[in-house]
Amino acid sequence: MGAHNNKNEQDWLERIDNLALYKKEGRRAPNKPLLLLFIMSNIQNNQTSQIVYTDAFHKKMKRLLTTYGRKGKTESGKPNYAFRRLINDKIWDIETVEGLGSEIFEPRNYWLKELKALKAVGQLNQKHERALLANPALIQTTIRRLLSENWDDTLHDDICEAIGLIVDEPSSKERDEEHVLDLVSKRKRDSEFRKRVIRAYRGECAMCGWDGRFVGGGTAALEAAHIRWHSHDGPDETNNGLSLCTLHHKLLDLGVVGLNTDKRVLVSQDFLGNGEAAQTVRSLSGLRLPDTQDPGDLPSGEYIEWHSSEVFREPAVPLNA
Ligand SMILES: [Zn+2]
Repeated sequence: MGAHNNKNEQDWLERIDNLALYKKEGRRAPNKPLLLLFIMSNIQNNQTSQIVYTDAFHKKMKRLLTTYGRKGKTESGKPNYAFRRLINDKIWDIETVEGLGSEIFEPRNYWLKELKALKAVGQLNQKHERALLANPALIQTTIRRLLSENWDDTLHDDICEAIGLIVDEPSSKERDEEHVLDLVSKRKRDSEFRKRVIRAYRGECAMCGWDGRFVGGGTAALEAAHIRWHSHDGPDETNNGLSLCTLHHKLLDLGVVGLNTDKRVLVSQDFLGNGEAAQTVRSLSGLRLPDTQDPGDLPSGEYIEWHSSEVFREPAVPLNA
């Protein structure tokens, strides 16, 4: 690999780290990151970053945004928005029957009809696409950075599977000393947080009371969830945690269940499912969280508020008084 390539690789990673995102004050902005992950999958599977703006692409992105995006009513929640706005990050351009997107689109112009009518084809800039094609490890680094900056750990595997990303373990070369130290300190931090949170709720899921464990051993399928995500400055404080079974942890991170400031469980009206287990989830609505051993360990209002505005899918099933 020549010096030229390295320079392009560095430039790429800097641009990925500095995407123009509206991420102020912990607000989530997952649309461009989702599009970029989609582009990474395209390179891995089809050896090109090129995406034609078809109905099929629009539907696919919309499904991803509905599941892993931030629920909102604004334009920025639509797939065409990120497709168009990525031009501003100087890594991507759109070719249309009327010319390059960077030349014909007004800064705030990103209509869906237009993208389809103009037969818009998006593609990464050549130097970046070449750098990615030449070095699969660069794609891996990109995927890891996008995931860790934008979603809680519990969702990473699901997102990769939904997009069709191929994810490798970090190679020995990437496991440089600094990286390993980071991982070790992260694991240590995680395990202490986990112990504290699970102890605070007496080894039970705060929502369903699940207390599965092994004879003479530890808990089974019980986890410590962050209410405000680590990726968005959520601290490892017990009052930012909830002891939850695997199912309720994931539903919390997907915004299917949430909390109000009275520490009662909310269930999203967006949640479907007719089976008995899904009904059980719906019946959690209004449930008051159990007391923690130390009252100071109950979820703090500020973390609940972050989850309500950034993750939970409004509206909630109305609570009985
Ligand atoms: Zn549970």
